[in-house]
This record gives sequence, structure tokens and C-alpha cells, in this order.
Amino acid sequence: MVLARKRFGQNFLHDPNVIAQIVESIDPQPGEALVEIGPGQGALTEPLLKLCEEFDAIEIDRDLAGELQQRFGDRGLTLHVCDVLEFDFATLAKARGQKLRVIGNLPYNVSTPLLFHLLDHRASIVDLHVMLQREVIERICAAPGGGDYGRLTVMLAPWLTAQHLFDVGPGAFRPAPQVWSAVARLTVHETPAFPVDARYARVVAAAFSKRRKTLRNTLHTLLDAEAIAACHIDPGARPETLSPAEFGRVASAVREPLV
Ligand code: SAM
Repeated sequence: MVLARKRFGQNFLHDPNVIAQIVESIDPQPGEALVEIGPGQGALTEPLLKLCEEFDAIEIDRDLAGELQQRFGDRGLTLHVCDVLEFDFATLAKARGQKLRVIGNLPYNVSTPLLFHLLDHRASIVDLHVMLQREVIERICAAPGGGDYGRLTVMLAPWLTAQHLFDVGPGAFRPAPQVWSAVARLTVHETPAFPVDARYARVVAAAFSKRRKTLRNTLHTLLDAEAIAACHIDPGARPETLSPAEFGRVASAVREPLV
């Protein structure tokens, strides 16, 4: 048995009820192209393999990968021993001849860059079932107006429908983390909920760079107050009060090319 490594965000699931609840939420079907991020000691891998016979998994820890290969290598698991942040999901989807269903009790230490990496590969993904710190799941699923609503929520919103499924206490893991976790289903849209281009990311990043400041202040290098008002948005509003579609409207008023 390999010891948990903090630098890889290793907290291994051991609660059979939570494992069953996650597998039931994924509801994998034979023939689907599943890919598990961070299989660890195989808590989800084992029950999932029983249901879908073969799938891919990405694990950075060579020692764990060695054990997984021994246990599941001839039972349908194809292991990619690498950093998921460098993994090309598009190439895998092409090799499997279909879009991917991504699942995982994700390494919490890289949660935000990982979500943005997955967002970059959205064209190759059908849906994601992810476990993360509850606080991150609340940010992903937040509605405008609250403290959880921010850059992450707004960047994912055009492309994903997010559903907070259930919470998981620290006792379900070994070692037990300091925080609660939660599981969410993220369903990828074929087309964005509203038109989005590079200006959207620029506007959202600038607006949330100083949450307490108004749009007039944070967006001044991209748009002046009159241009914001012309989108029927109050230039004196704070960023957390705008819906993702309203950010889309403001972004489409930014003059191109961006500098
Ligand atoms: N799925 C297992 C479970 O539920 O018990 C393990 C979950 S543990 C929270 C996160 C897993 O992701 C570990 O196996 C860890 O080694 C792996 N991991 C961490 N960083 C990674 C990275 N950058 N790329 C791929 N795997 C990574």
C-alpha cells in the first residue's frame, strides 16, 4: 500500500456508500468513453470497471500507477501516467471515436487550473462528474449576487450546466481532509448559451480583479462608462451582480482587436 502524498492532493475515498452514490450518479453505460482523473488506489476505478468493462485513467503518481496497472491492467484499464494539466483530451476522444465522460475525485491542490484545462477541451467532453472542495463546487454552481459567485462561475457558465449533487464529509476519506467536499455534474453544451469570444475572458478577469470596485473602475481600459451603459448595464454596478449573459453583452461591446 502506497502512503498518501500531500503534494498530489491525495485523500483516498473509503466510504462504500459515498462510492456507490458517485457511481450511481455517473450511471456509466457499456461502450461509453469514460476517463478517470486521479484513480489513486482505485476506489472508483474498481466499481466503474465492473460496469463499463474498459476505460482510460490519468494518474501522476508512478507508485500508484504501478499498483493500478498490476490490479486493473488486464481488466480493461488503460493508464496514462502523466500530469492531467498536460493531458490532451482531444487526442484521446479521437482515439476512442467519441466524446469523453470525465470523472474523478479531483486533486484539490490544482482544482482551478484543472477546471480551466477541462474547459479548454470542452469540445471533446460530454459531461463531468467531479468531487472537489465544497467551497469550489459552490463557486461553480453559484447564482449572481452572492459571495460565491465569481470569475470561475462566470467563465464556466456559457459552456456548462452545473448541478451540485451532494456533499461529502471529511470522514469518507483517508487521510481525512480539513474541509468538506461535494460532487457536481457538469454537462457540456454543444454551443455556448450566448456568443462568447476572447473578449469575454478579458472582461470577466478585469471585472473580478477587484470585486469591491465598480465596472466603471475595473473595465476602464476596455470600455468607458457610456459604452457599459449602452449595454443596459449600470456602470456603477459591482461585478457579482451581473449574470453571465450580461457579461457576454458587455464583452461584445469591447472594440477589437484587443491589446
Ligand atoms: N480517486 C481516488 C479516490 O477517490 O480515492 C484518489 C483521489 S485523490 C483526491 C487525487 C488523485 O489524483 C491522486 O491519486 C493523485 O495522485 C492524483 N493526482 C494529483 N495531481 C494530479 C495531476 N496533476 N495529474 C494526474 N493525477 C493527479
